[in-house]
Amino acid sequence: MNPFSTLGIRHDIVNAITELGYEKPSPIQEQAIPVLLSGSNDFVGLAQTGTGKTAAFGLPLLELLDFEENYPQALILCPTRELCLQITNDLKTYSKNMKNVNVVAVYGGANISDQLRQIKRGVQIVVATPGRMLDIINRKAIDFTQVQYVVLDEADEMLNMGFQEDIDQILSTTPDDKKTWLFSATMPGEVRRIAKKYMTDPFELTMGTKNTGNVNISHEYYVVRARDKYAAFKRIVDFNPEIFGIVFCRTKIETQEIAESLIKDGYNADALHGDLSQQQRDKVMKRYRDRSLQLLIATDVAARGIDVNDVTHVINYSLPDEIENYTHRSGRTARAGKMGISIAIINSKELGKIRQIERVIGKQFTKAEIPNGFDVCEKQLFALVHKVHNVEVNEEQIEQYIPRIMDEFKDLEKEDIIKRFASLEFNRFLEYYSNAPDLNATHEERTGDRGDRSFKSSTSAGFTRLFMNLGSVDDFTRGDMLGFICNNAKISGKSVGKIDLKGVFTFFEVENSVADQVTQAFKSVDYQGRDVRIEPAGDREGGSSREGGRGERGGFSRERSGGGGGGYRGRTGGNREGGSREGGGFRDFSGKRREDRGGSSSAGPRREGGGDRRRRS
Ligand code: AMP
Repeated sequence: MNPFSTLGIRHDIVNAITELGYEKPSPIQEQAIPVLLSGSNDFVGLAQTGTGKTAAFGLPLLELLDFEENYPQALILCPTRELCLQITNDLKTYSKNMKNVNVVAVYGGANISDQLRQIKRGVQIVVATPGRMLDIINRKAIDFTQVQYVVLDEADEMLNMGFQEDIDQILSTTPDDKKTWLFSATMPGEVRRIAKKYMTDPFELTMGTKNTGNVNISHEYYVVRARDKYAAFKRIVDFNPEIFGIVFCRTKIETQEIAESLIKDGYNADALHGDLSQQQRDKVMKRYRDRSLQLLIATDVAARGIDVNDVTHVINYSLPDEIENYTHRSGRTARAGKMGISIAIINSKELGKIRQIERVIGKQFTKAEIPNGFDVCEKQLFALVHKVHNVEVNEEQIEQYIPRIMDEFKDLEKEDIIKRFASLEFNRFLEYYSNAPDLNATHEERTGDRGDRSFKSSTSAGFTRLFMNLGSVDDFTRGDMLGFICNNAKISGKSVGKIDLKGVFTFFEVENSVADQVTQAFKSVDYQGRDVRIEPAGDREGGSSREGGRGERGGFSRERSGGGGGGYRGRTGGNREGGSREGGGFRDFSGKRREDRGGSSSAGPRREGGGDRRRRS
């Protein structure tokens, strides 16, 4: 017997949910259903999305209402159209073997007359977003005076979205003696206040400890330099060939940009944000649900209420401004008892925010390393091998081509053929990732030691930025360089600021008061038989040191990624390119590296394959 029966759910409903694959109640269902079935309590449930809370309140409602009557007896308020439709569909599915159950979905962005018509025909359960509900109430098109149960689903989200007043007004049209059931993923002060205001002595149920996120989600963070973020993100995606993920950005613009870059780089991605029309959003969501899309790039608002099963990864491309939003984001994965990973790609300055999030979710993050090129290639290779092994063969269609295919391969051994098939895709990754740089921020960059400072290209106040014609190819580390400067110029380490050690040269800062002393001192210094030259950095960086710093950085990226350096030359003139020593040094960097550094302009290995290549369906 399905254990839902022992909880007190009638057979018609148990049969319907058994067909859905609900073989046993989830923890929240197990605990909430008996309480709610009594119909005599107000109720507060602290539960994430994906825990099965829709059935936890939906099944008791179906047991408690009188479906021989056709007036509104239950009202379910939720934050988004997505969730509204989801709940409505779930209720319809649960009650498919019952007679005369009428559920209506009331939400904005859709034709109101259809909704009014359905209400007029007679309903027992109204599932609504607050704005449209209030609109209908104000038109006096619905009578809530006999409502017995009100469900506030994702209450924290509704408050986040500013629905407090609407909810107040809607609830004022319902009877005082109704029961209110509130569900929320988090319990900020405002939700507590709402609970207090609308409920008397509610039964409280907390799944896990307070504010604890879903135990099936593991949280990971990667520390990268800001300029490497996009490349690092792509590498994480490449390392997870079967990823089916939602990527969160902070703004609509960022969302759009990342999606466009990914599409350009051959990934199967699209954007979901508030500037799209409802129709466009529905289209994107349909593609994602159908798994024709592998990566959904979304803003917090647009992604609210998204309920897609089997999301493998949530990626925080940017951390949310509101810490609470992290819970909502990560709750999009690990639904219905599955495992999921929530990833944050951060720079060293955001470590504090990770600690804050850990306090809110009551769980620790694991620090992860961006995989190196070799690891990515290996992962991709075996994913490919696995795919080839498991591909469904359409015998009928392929049959006619087999003789020609066999003929083409007749001079090759089985082993050779396998090697060639595997190489077909693998080569792209190999080429792309040959010489791929380490994208993890170094320890110094993470801890904010001297190294961290060296990545800021603008000159610190009170310091002068200088150029020196020695760099890492001369076997200098930053520490060596600090010693070299101090010993030769006879200054203290405290007078030296950022040191930006490059291949064949270095930019470094010294206090303004010792800048001349340093320049003079090095006039008589040589290093392994070479003159050491010190010059103001501005001359070398193609303008003031501030501007030049940025130019130089852009120059490096382009030079390295393209191998030709055309972009740099165009922007800041021939100063460096023309310089004999530096020019030679740059050639060292160029090689044939199609590096994944430097943001959206660098195409990924998938480009040649086109976006469709990775489609699943
Ligand atoms: P919810 O938290 O209500 O959005 O549910 C999350 C997902 O879990 C939905 O896809 C439900 O269909 C599924 N689900 C809910 N309860 C169960 C159950 N007892 N067994 C299996 N799946 C369930």
